[in-house]
Formats: sequence, structure tokens, C-alpha cells
Amino acid sequence: MKQKGKQKKLRRSKLKVVDMSACSFCSENISKGTGVLFAKKDGTLFYFCSSKCKKNQELGREGRRQKWTKASQLFKEREKKKAAKAG
Ligand SMILES: [Zn+2]
Repeated sequence: MKQKGKQKKLRRSKLKVVDMSACSFCSENISKGTGVLFAKKDGTLFYFCSSKCKKNQELGREGRRQKWTKASQLFKEREKKKAAKAG
């Protein structure tokens, strides 16, 4: 009986991972039922959390170079780690 309970918990956690997708521009988590899916002609998919992110992408901006995005913070952290390893 105890094992069955554990299996149910694992299934639930997997479903949550599938539901949550990150914004292609700002890498913020998009909750279910919100956001925009944009498909290019070549088949690449972009998930946008807001029209702000979609418009910024259309203007040719990079999410990791904008100060207000979570992607820029992640990019800075990665650069710091690289610098620490190198130096
Ligand atoms: Zn976004």
C-alpha cells in the first residue's frame, strides 16, 4: 500500500513539469492557460508570457541583454561562474 502512494506522487510531479514552460524571451515560468505560442515557418516554437515579450522579440532584441528579464539575471550568474572558474 505504501508503494502505491509513492507512485501517485511521482506521477503528479511529472505532470507539473510538463505543464510549466518558460518564456522564450524572459525565461519566466508561464502558468497554464496564459501566454502565446508563436510558430515560425521553419517550425521553431516560441512561448511568450506576455505581449511585451513578443513585441521585444519582433524588434530583434535579445532577452538576456534586457535588464528587466529573468534571463539576463541567469546569464549574469553563468558569466560570473565562468569567470570564477577561469580566474
Ligand atoms: Zn516573457
